Amino acid sequence: MSDIRDEVAENFTEIYGYEPTGLWSAPGRVNLIGEHTDYNEGFVLPFAINRRTVLALGIRDDAVVRVGSSFADEAAEIALAELTPDALDGWSAYPLGVIWALGQFGADLAAVPGVDIYLESTVPVGAGLSSSAAIESSVAFALNEVWQLGLDRQTLAKVGQLAENKAVGAPTGIMDQSASLLGQADAAVFLDCRSLESAVVPLGLAAAGLEFLVIDTGVAHEHATGGYRARRDSCERGAAAMGVPSLRHLTVDDLERAREILDDETFRRVRHVVTEDQRVLETVRVLRESGPLAIGDLLDASHASMRDDFEISVPELDLAVETAQANGAIGARMTGGGFGGSAIALVPTDAISRIQVAIDGAFAEHGFGQPTMFVVTASNGANRE
Ligand code: ADP
Ligand code: MG
Repeated sequence: MSDIRDEVAENFTEIYGYEPTGLWSAPGRVNLIGEHTDYNEGFVLPFAINRRTVLALGIRDDAVVRVGSSFADEAAEIALAELTPDALDGWSAYPLGVIWALGQFGADLAAVPGVDIYLESTVPVGAGLSSSAAIESSVAFALNEVWQLGLDRQTLAKVGQLAENKAVGAPTGIMDQSASLLGQADAAVFLDCRSLESAVVPLGLAAAGLEFLVIDTGVAHEHATGGYRARRDSCERGAAAMGVPSLRHLTVDDLERAREILDDETFRRVRHVVTEDQRVLETVRVLRESGPLAIGDLLDASHASMRDDFEISVPELDLAVETAQANGAIGARMTGGGFGGSAIALVPTDAISRIQVAIDGAFAEHGFGQPTMFVVTASNGANRE
């Protein structure tokens, strides 16, 4: 971590010609379980990871904002008064969208001073580990401090979500930003997406001799369009046909009736969400009562449900999951929105290299591109460096 912080500070000074006021950071996340449940007002159980966006920030004496990153040769520049979702595009829509969204949550953008921001990230982009939320949360957290807005972490998560929904145009839920802001070391964040109540659930991985292995398939996903939107629409249709405001209001006991009144595809979408909510609750209970060695079947069942009922997996994700399971993983599943990205496997420390070799071999055998694999640890949320 220390090298990226130095790099960010140095690049800030080089680009803007003065030293930053401070450095802030926020992590990406892995979702342990609870996929496509957040926008159905259900339950999720993500954890923040030890890969972060780090930003340097300086305060200006006018009302202009500049944001720079390694993604662009030149910083994007806009007057605070001109910030609207329509004025933004490209990567800078994430940080600038957050500034606009802070205005929607009470920041007086006509009164605050302008800022210069430069950021870099160790969260791989488009891998399903939410490099987007890492940016949003770091910017929201930093500006909340320097502009003394007094917003709490839950509210900052909503700010990030609003930016992603309106300025970027990706119809994502509240999970990623919540994990990035509320995460704690060696713990997951259990979040009720209806009440937005959250609880920290200790993972106890080290004590159990376990680690999380991320397998980034390299298959890029695209959330702003396509399948993600279609799944949201199916869920809304299913809820409306069942006469409830959201799928959160259904339980497994309602599935028989759902099968009778819904078409087969919508029924399977609904079944995934309803059973996934149940699996999140089960996972929290099992973690608290028995520890992480006992959650493998729940992870495996979650993957099967996403593959067969929600149909958001791809062959690379299925192969990663199956190969991990066959080579000693406690459990494995795709993580994130789907259609590509990463899988996670919960693995005994002494089985990690065997599993990695097996996955590399299986991908080569199937003619798939080589996956990137790395261990992640559950880490703390956004902070000042
Ligand atoms: P994910 O969140 O799964 O990584 P998204 O498509 O939601 O994927 O967000 C990725 C986008 O976030 C990138 O296309 C880019 O616009 C922006 N982004 C991520 N990391 C950086 C970075 N280090 N610098 C600039 N923009 C970034
Ligand atoms: Mg994202």
